[in-house]
Amino acid sequence: MKFTDLGLMPELLRAVEDAGYTEPTPIQAQAIPVVLAGRDVMGGAQTGTGKTAGFTLPVLQRLARHANSSPSPARHPVRALILAPTRELAMQTHESVVTYGKYLPLRAVCVYGGVDIKPQTAELREGREIVVATPGRLLDHVQQKSVNFNQVEVVILDEADRMLDMGFIPDIRRILAMLPKERQSLLFSATFSEEIKKLADNMLKSPQLIEVARRNTVSETITHRMHAVASDKKRHLLLHLLREKPDMQVLVFVGTKFGTARLAAWLERQGVNAVAIHGDKSQQQRTEALEAFKGGTARVMVATDVAARGLDIDDLPHVINYELPHVAEDYIHRIGRTGRAGKPGDATSLVAPEEKPRLADIEKLIKFKIEQVEITGFESAGRDEERHGRGHGHAHRERERHGPRVPVQLPPTIAADGFDFGKPYEPAVSSDTAPAKSEPPKRPQRPVAALLGGIGKK
Ligand code: AMP
Repeated sequence: MKFTDLGLMPELLRAVEDAGYTEPTPIQAQAIPVVLAGRDVMGGAQTGTGKTAGFTLPVLQRLARHANSSPSPARHPVRALILAPTRELAMQTHESVVTYGKYLPLRAVCVYGGVDIKPQTAELREGREIVVATPGRLLDHVQQKSVNFNQVEVVILDEADRMLDMGFIPDIRRILAMLPKERQSLLFSATFSEEIKKLADNMLKSPQLIEVARRNTVSETITHRMHAVASDKKRHLLLHLLREKPDMQVLVFVGTKFGTARLAAWLERQGVNAVAIHGDKSQQQRTEALEAFKGGTARVMVATDVAARGLDIDDLPHVINYELPHVAEDYIHRIGRTGRAGKPGDATSLVAPEEKPRLADIEKLIKFKIEQVEITGFESAGRDEERHGRGHGHAHRERERHGPRVPVQLPPTIAADGFDFGKPYEPAVSSDTAPAKSEPPKRPQRPVAALLGGIGKK
């Protein structure tokens, strides 16, 4: 299958060629003709499958008839609305719209919260055919009357499951209620819960179901492994893994904003260039962190689930789950950062005894057991026997490679400033969207302030 077989116009084919794509991904091959035909789509696809181009290219083609270079705002009403759950995803989708639409005089804008609203308002008032938005900020613009949906022809809800997790569904329903009834609607989600199906029923008319990977499955090019390790040894095991592969960039997932900042600061102290990305960071800090990581100055990016959603980082070979997610589906989202577009990837999970139930949930969801690999000096006292038996062969090989089983001398956990990094730092349940009060009680003054943003290098 070639892009030229999909019925795309020359302006789009040129842009695709410029992007260096030689053939469409499965979701693109399936979705492009359906969207071009004007049909609604329910798309089951995770990030990394090429879904963004899968909907952006045909939507641009459908809007191409409106393309014009008039300076009049009236000639550029909003025709397509793309809703994304996070700022990062919105920015990346907007970037795709600009990339693929570069040979068409259509205008696009990206609106998201956490930044000054005025420049966005000014852009909207100038007229933009394509609006990529996070729901809350879009509603702010609605309230300000800086945007009008009368001419909307197509709406795309991207990562609907994440919208649901983040509590955006009421906002989405409000936005949908403002759109013309006669329109094309596309909904993409990596997973389909009953609530997503309900939303789809309300939003879509006789949709074409397009699924590229089986629901709740993971890319086959990813190698999954887990290390059973006590919580208080995790940071040292992480350091050990990083030192084993000194050239590799790694995305590390932590369950909470607090934990993210704290782990990144600790890694910095161990001489590993690390950045943290989480919901409490300003947009500028997040963008800087992402750029440092993408540009290679930061070797490690420590992220929460929400902050990492939609991050498009090419060639990311390794994802480490420093803590397993509480929601099994998030495992799929996390490792969707690696093994993209058929490339090989590694997903490593550090599993403390108390996380075993989460591991069981994940294995049930992905329908296979994750191989356990033992690393000398980091064995978890509480590992279960069933796993011991299964992982034995590999564990043995690891031991051979790492020499006889002798206790590893761990670096001291008390920092020079008296801050004890050896103490568990993780509250049991929290997420990026949880209110600040669910975070662990903050320690007196200095260390926490420093860790949450006061430390020099960000
Ligand atoms: P997405 O799933 O939309 O986030 O896309 C994942 C990555 O795949 C992005 O880095 C895209 O630039 C890349 N990509 C999209 N379409 C193709 C294609 N046809 N061939 C190769 N890479 C692609």
